Order: sequence, then C-alpha cells, then structure tokens
Amino acid sequence: MDSTSPETTSGVLSTTHINPFEEMASRFDKAAELLGLDPGMRKVLREPIKELKVSIPVVMDDGRIEVFIGYRVHHSVVRGPAKGGIRFDAGVSLDEVRALASWMTWKCAVMNIPFGGGKGGVICDPRKLSRGELERITRRYTSEIMDLLGPEKDVPAPDVGTDSQTMAWLMDTYSMHVRHTVTSIVTGKPISIGGSRGRVEATGRGVMLAGREAARVHGLPLEGARVVVQGFGNVGSISAKMFASQGSRIIAVSDVNGAIQNPDGLDVAALFTYMQKSRTVVGFPGSTPLDPAQLLTTECDILVPAALENQITHENADQIRTKIIVEGANGPTTAAADEILQKMGVVVIPDIYANGGGVTVSYFEWVQDRMGFFWREDEVNQRLEELMVQSFADVREMAEARNVSYRIAAYMVAIQRVANDLQLRGLYA
Ligand code: GLU
Repeated sequence: MDSTSPETTSGVLSTTHINPFEEMASRFDKAAELLGLDPGMRKVLREPIKELKVSIPVVMDDGRIEVFIGYRVHHSVVRGPAKGGIRFDAGVSLDEVRALASWMTWKCAVMNIPFGGGKGGVICDPRKLSRGELERITRRYTSEIMDLLGPEKDVPAPDVGTDSQTMAWLMDTYSMHVRHTVTSIVTGKPISIGGSRGRVEATGRGVMLAGREAARVHGLPLEGARVVVQGFGNVGSISAKMFASQGSRIIAVSDVNGAIQNPDGLDVAALFTYMQKSRTVVGFPGSTPLDPAQLLTTECDILVPAALENQITHENADQIRTKIIVEGANGPTTAAADEILQKMGVVVIPDIYANGGGVTVSYFEWVQDRMGFFWREDEVNQRLEELMVQSFADVREMAEARNVSYRIAAYMVAIQRVANDLQLRGLYA
C-alpha cells in the first residue's frame, strides 16, 4: 500500500505493553468523576456495546491459504450510527480496536456530529501484501462484518493502512450483497463514486485549524512557528502542508523508514514530489538525517504526533521541548505523560478534538451521499472550519470553567453530550 495514501503512517516507538483501552478508560473515569456522572450511566458509557471477531481466509498470490483475524467494535450508537475507520496493521489487537471505537464516540460528540463510535481492524502488514491480496482481505472482511454494517447502523472509513481504494472495495462488496449501490455505507471513498471533496485533506486541515485556535489563545503566531511532525501518512503529510501554508516552518518529519530535519524549514511541496517516487521522506535533498528516537524531543513550537498510540509516555514526556502538542494520531499520549506535560506547562490539544476534522468531513460525505447532491470544496472546508472553531470554543470553555486540561475538558464535553442523549432516549427494557 502506498505510504502516502490516506491514514497510513508510522515511524514509531514500540509500546505494545501499554493498553490503549486502559489509557482511554482512565481519562473517561476522571472526566466522569468531575461531571458527577451517575454510576449506572458510567457503566453504560465506559465499555463497548458490541464486539465481533472474524476469521478471514484468503487465497494468497502464491496459491497458499492464509487466515487473517479481523475485528469490528461498536462502542456506542446513542447519538447515531457507529462511525469509525478500519485499520490494517500488524499491531492491531482487540483492546486497540476497543479504544479506537471509544475514541470515535467521544470524537463525534466533541465535534457535535450525529454519530456514535465504532472501529475495525485486521491484523496484517499491508506493505507486505499485493493489491490483489488486499482486495480479497477487504472483501472477505466486509462480508464477515456485514451484519453490523449499514448507512444507519455502522459506517466505516479509512484509518492506518487503508485508503480510498479500500473503501471503494468495501462499498462494492456491500452493494453487491444488497443488490444495489449504497454509497453512504462508507466514507473516505474516491470522489467519483460518492466521496466528498476535501475528505482526503480533512484530518490534516483540521489538525492545522486546531493548532491555529490553540496558538491564537496561547499567544503563538503560526507565521514562523517551528513544527515537528511524527508520521508522514495522510494525516502527518497534510498537516505539514497545512501548517506550511500558514507560514510555519516544518523543521523535522519522520515516517516508518526514518526521520529528516532542516532547521530552516523543509520545502513541503518538494517533499511531496520526492515522496511520490521514493515512497519515503528519507534522503530528501535539502534535509539531513535525524535519529527517529530524537524526533519527538526536537525543540519546536508545535509538535504533531500523527502516527500511532502511546508515543509520548512517562519515559520521554519530560524531554519534550515544545509549546503545543496537536494530536493528529489517536491516543499518541499516555495518561501518565499527560500529567508530566501539564506540570511542564506544555499545552496538549487532544486527539478527540484535534483529529476530528476527518470524521467531520466523513459526516459531510454521508450527508451528501444521502442527498445525492455534492458540495464544492470551499463549502466543505468552510463548514469544517466552522465546526473546528466551535468545538475548540466548547472545549476551552469547559477547561476554563472547571480548571482542567483540554484533554479532560474534551472528554467532559463529549460525555455530557452522550449522557444527555442517553438520558433522553432512556433504556429499552
Ligand atoms: N480513522 C479516522 C479517525 O480516526 C476517520 C474516521 C471516520 O472518518 O469515520 O478519526
């Protein structure tokens, strides 16, 4: 799979011993406590509502049969269909998918869009699979999780290791099963088959807008700000491009193969061209190599972790030298690291808001598919900006009113919205 394709990023520290679901739950518990959430509500909202594990037998190109393991988890459908990506990665586990599904619930609620939260994953290394093998895995996985899917039930999207082509195969498989084309079954599709303009750029654009809002409040001009980006997949690369468009200097970036730097600022447009042919940032003319382990601790103004979970931990948090962290990835900072960063005065703009631009434009895509009427790119971007600005204001208001970090404030805003709607709907018994 193309390393520049949507949501594929890496270049990361291995921290598989840290359980991402526990990381999510510890923030949930803290926010629920501060909200004085009813203990029963707390039980309902903490755990996923549905978890499916499937076996995916596939004939490989050499004729061998391989069996892959896949998951699809629904965390909540209180505010609408389960929404969230599908990850193809060797590190996928049930607890990771459970965490990612929960983060989708909170993310959609922070962005105030009418979705619940879900996530899927297949344990595989897409870089070692042919296009045909990827297609067969995607189609068989889709048919195995078919009962959960539906435009009103569960709407997948790309995540790490998957892209618009994966979504096209998913949409086709679902449509073949139900005997008619259903574009709104999935978001992040190619534009010509029902995708939304601006969706590919949406997460990175949202990361920049989140950074812009935070920088404004904390007195940091984006013009000339030094930005470091971990991960150069869809989220990291577009974030870099968007910050560069604001006059920021991208001084270091990494991908799965290594890291590069240029204290005067990398030429991001030229880096994109270089990436097209070399499929890595490493060796980019006009840069010098950087030890990937030192990327996160490079001195800068804005740090964008845009790879995987658990990258900023209790082991390296005290060495971070940045003013603002804008979380392009889901779960890049552990709860223990949050405490250290807060004491150091580093502002953390949390994942469930900072990377919410992707799912927000997924919502726009779903709406457009259901209307059968498609918006101009400037309309999409304008609406995305409105929601990013509004959600930042909501999170900031909570942070100031309750004297908590933006992370806990974002969870509080989200939990309050979901709990309120659950209260209104009541329990079916
Ligand atoms: N995978 C992305 C995320 O983690 C996008 C999800 C979506 O658009 O449904 O937010």
